[in-house]
Amino acid sequence: MIKKKNILVTGGAGFIGSHLCEKLLSNGENVICVDNLFTGSEENIKHLLSDNNFEFVEHDIINPYFADKHVDEIYNLACPASPVHYQYNAIRTIKANTIGVINMLGLAKKHKARILQASTSEVYGDPLEHPQTERYKGNVNCDGIRACYDEGKRVAETLFFDYNRQNYVEVRIVRIFNTYGPRMAKNDGRVVSNFIVQALEGKDITIYGDGKQTRSFQYVDDLVAGMIKMMNCENFNGPVNLGNPNEFTMLELAEKVIAYTGSKSRIVYQKLPQDDPCKRKPDVSLAKKKLDWEPRIDLEDGLKKTITYFRGLIGE
Ligand code: NAD
Ligand code: UDP
Repeated sequence: MIKKKNILVTGGAGFIGSHLCEKLLSNGENVICVDNLFTGSEENIKHLLSDNNFEFVEHDIINPYFADKHVDEIYNLACPASPVHYQYNAIRTIKANTIGVINMLGLAKKHKARILQASTSEVYGDPLEHPQTERYKGNVNCDGIRACYDEGKRVAETLFFDYNRQNYVEVRIVRIFNTYGPRMAKNDGRVVSNFIVQALEGKDITIYGDGKQTRSFQYVDDLVAGMIKMMNCENFNGPVNLGNPNEFTMLELAEKVIAYTGSKSRIVYQKLPQDDPCKRKPDVSLAKKKLDWEPRIDLEDGLKKTITYFRGLIGE
C-alpha cells in the first residue's frame, strides 16, 4: 500500500491554495493548511473541514511553525498576491517573502521535506524581452510600489537556491503567470475579478491606463496540475514558468467579460498605477519539455466558469 503523504500548504485558504488543497485531498493525501486569513477565508475551505485528512491551522508564517507530525512536502503560497493587498502593508509583504520563507525552508530542512515556492512572473518586472523565458533576468524597479512583492519574490527564489546549495533542501520553483478562477475574493482587486464583479453589478468597468497593456491569463485548474507535476518531478529544481501563452489586452478582456455576462456596464479609463508592466506572456516550452504540461483551458471557458461562480456569490 502506498503511504499517504503529509503535505503542508501555506496560503491554503486563499484562491489558488484552496484549489490545491482540494486536489491534493482528492489524490488521497493528508493536507495541513496553514494560513493567517489575511486575504484568504475559511469560506474557501469550509467544504474541506469535515475531511479527516484535512487540517486547518491559523498561523502567520512570519512566525516559526512547528509541525506536530512529520511533513513530506511543503507548497509555500503564503503571500498576498493582488497589488492592492500586497501594497496595503508593504513591509509585511517583504517579511512574508523573507522571514516567512526562511521559516518554511527551515521546516523543510528539519523534516527533509521537498518544498515548492509559488514564485511569479513579477520577477521579470516590466519585461524588455517578449515572451518571457526562464533565462530572462528581468527589469524590476527596486524602489517602486510593486517592489515589496517583485523583489520579495526574487529574494525568496534566492533563498530557495541557497538552502538547496548550502543545506541540500530539495526545492522546486514555479513562476506563476496571471491566474484566475472561482474563489478569487470579490474585493481581490485583480483585473479578472474586478471586471466580472463590475459587469455583474452593472457598475463601470475600470480600465487602468489606455487598456493596451497585455496579460496572459491562466485558469486555476491548469496551474494546480502544473504545480503538482513540478513537486513530483525528479532532478529538476526549476524555475519553470506556468502560465497560458494566449495574450490579451485589458480592453479585449473587458469586452469579453461584457459579452459573456450580457452586462450593460460602460468602460471607463482610470490612471495607470506606477510600474504597471506593459506586457506579459510566458514561454512555456520548458514546462512542456520537463513536466509534459501545458494549459488546456482557454480564456472563454475559464471566464464563463468564473462568471458562474461570481453570479452565485453576488446572487445576481
Ligand atoms: P490569495 O491572496 O488568495 O492567497 C494568498 C493566501 O496566503 C491567503 O489565503 C492569505 O491569507 C495567505 N497569507 C498571506 N500572508 C500570509 C502569512 N504571512 N502567513 C500565512 N498566510 C498568509 O492569492 P493567490 O492568487 O491564491 O496567490 C497564492 C500564491 O500564488 C501567492 O504566493 C502569490 O504570490 C502566487 N501567485 C499568484 C498569482 C496569481 O495570478 N493568482 C500569480 C503569481 C504568483
Ligand atoms: N487593471 C485594470 N483594471 C482593474 C484592475 C487591474 O485595468 O480594475 C489592469 C492593471 O493595471 C494591469 C492588469 O489589469 O495592467 C492586470 O492587473 P492585475 O492587478 O490583475 O495583475 P498584475 O498587474 O499583477 O499582473
